[in-house]
Amino acid sequence: MRRSQPACKPTTVKREAARDALAALHGAPDVASVTQRSILDSLVRTILSQNTTDATSQRAFLALKQAFPTWEAVREAQPGAVEAAIRVGGLADIKAARIRAILDMLVAERAACCLEHLRELPDAEVKLQLTRFKGVGPKTVACIMMFGMQRYEFPVDTHVWRISKALGWVPARATREQAYQHLNARVPDAVKYDLHVLLVEHGKRCPRCAKIPGRPRKEPVGECPLVRARAPPCVEKAEPGSPEAKPGGRGKRRAM
Ligand SMILES: [Zn+2]
Repeated sequence: MRRSQPACKPTTVKREAARDALAALHGAPDVASVTQRSILDSLVRTILSQNTTDATSQRAFLALKQAFPTWEAVREAQPGAVEAAIRVGGLADIKAARIRAILDMLVAERAACCLEHLRELPDAEVKLQLTRFKGVGPKTVACIMMFGMQRYEFPVDTHVWRISKALGWVPARATREQAYQHLNARVPDAVKYDLHVLLVEHGKRCPRCAKIPGRPRKEPVGECPLVRARAPPCVEKAEPGSPEAKPGGRGKRRAM
């Protein structure tokens, strides 16, 4: 039996049109430029990026890598030494404790500071494994899987959440987690990476779509192409854990 299409499902045209319009304004994302990194590197990067800017968290990550040649060395460091290395990124005590807890758990369970075994697991199992770590939520996991593991994921950060609601792609009252469940199940795999990257960039540069309207974080580059695409507010309830959500499938990897 065929089910009717949910009212909030963004049509392929809308999503692909939005991707194309944003790419024309901001430039097409270059997937090939994504550096291959270890999953543990990606995880630590996302922990360091919490509550700070990309540039600052990048500095904290590089400082950490410079101070300690291996993750084993981070784990065995004197108390305070890791905090000192990442202090530039803020919340150093909390972030250092979370990194240490992850490394301790990995050594206890697998006798190594490594997460590469996750590459062999299906999406659903990867999510279960990563969300066990304190401070690692669905957005962090989706980012690690998209940027670090080349899986088809659609992370919903504050920009994606806000703009998706404005476009009527998710119900106006959807939480960020509900918006993620809703969009991750509906945005076509082929569009996920580009659309995520472009919506984040657009949210930082567009005066209309900025978190504080009229005050984008970065220099604006042109007229907002999404204004014409705005739909009336959607009334459908988001469906966290809906049966439409795809089960994790082995081998769902992006071609890089
Ligand atoms: Zn805009």
